[in-house]
Amino acid sequence: MSSERVQPKIIIHGGAGSSLKGKGGAEAVRQSLYRVIDELYELLLAGANAQVCVVKGCQLLEDDPRFNSGTGSVLQSDGQIRMSASLMDGTSQRFSGVINVSRVKNPITLALELQDSHDRVLSDYGAAELLRELAIPTYDPLTEIRLQEWTLERQGNFTKEMAGVVAERELVEDGARRGTIGVVVLDSQGNLAVGTSTGGKGFERIGRVSDSAMPAGNYATPQAAVSCTGIGEDIIDECLAARIVVRVTDGMPLQAAFERSFKEAHRNQRDLGAIGIDQSGAIAWGKTSEVLLAAYHTGEKVGDTLDWTGEELASSIS
Ligand code: ASP
Repeated sequence: MSSERVQPKIIIHGGAGSSLKGKGGAEAVRQSLYRVIDELYELLLAGANAQVCVVKGCQLLEDDPRFNSGTGSVLQSDGQIRMSASLMDGTSQRFSGVINVSRVKNPITLALELQDSHDRVLSDYGAAELLRELAIPTYDPLTEIRLQEWTLERQGNFTKEMAGVVAERELVEDGARRGTIGVVVLDSQGNLAVGTSTGGKGFERIGRVSDSAMPAGNYATPQAAVSCTGIGEDIIDECLAARIVVRVTDGMPLQAAFERSFKEAHRNQRDLGAIGIDQSGAIAWGKTSEVLLAAYHTGEKVGDTLDWTGEELASSIS
C-alpha cells in the first residue's frame, strides 16, 4: 500500500462471446454496466477500499438477471444451478473462492467470508456447510428465461452449445444475455482487488469446475489485477489472468502484457476475454471472442467496449 493518494479506477465485465444482436440488447447491457460503475465510483470516492468495492460490484452484477452469475445463472446439464466465485486481494495477495455452490444469492459473499479462513477455496458440500454456518438464508437464483432456455435445449437433445457466454438466441432478444461477471478496482490508496462470479458455461457435466474460481480466471498482485471471461477450459489452458498479472509483476507494461497474452491466446484459437488494471492506474482489456461486455471509469472518463471490434486483440486507457 502506498501512502500517496492515487486516482481510483474501475473496470467491470458482464461476459464475452458472440455478437450482440440489436441495439436494444446492447443498450440494456450498457445501462446495467454503467449503473454499477457509477455506484462503485461513488463508493471509492467516499473512501471504500478496493476489496469492499469489488465485493459490492460483484453483488450488484450477481443480482442483475441479465448476467450469468447469481440471479440469472445458467443451468447445468441436469437442470441445476451451480455457481462459482472468487476474490483476490492484490495487497495481501490472497485468493479465496467457492466452486459449484447452490441456493445462495451472492456467491461472492462466501468468497469474502473465506478471505481470512485457513481453508480458502471450498467446493459444493463445503460451501453449503459454510452457508449454514453463516446462517445465510437459502435463495433460488433461477429465472424464467434460464429455465425456458434449458427446456428448449433439452427438447433438442442438447444439440446446441449453451454456454457461449453471451450467446444469441431468440429467447433473449430483450437483452438478457449470459456472461460471467468480473470487477477490478484500484482504490485511492493504490490497492488492487479483483472478483469474478459465474453460473458456468451452461449444460456442463455435473462437477465441471469453472476458471472463475481459479487463479487462471481471477488473479492479482500489488502490481496488477485481472478478471477473465469466456470458455473456462480455454482460460485454464492459457492460465490467462495469472499469465497477464505475472508479466506485469515482472515489469512488462499492462498494455504489452495484454497484447502478448492475447496474441498467444489467438494463436491457440481460444475463445475468451479479460479486463485488468495495474498499480499505475492503466486499464486494459482484450478478447479473442466477438464481443466483450466491459465498462470502465478512469475518474475522468467513463467508457465501454461493447462496440469495440478488437482487431488489435487488446486495448488500454489510463
Ligand atoms: N468462464 C466461465 C466458465 O467457463 C464462463 C464465462 O465466462 O461466461 O465457467
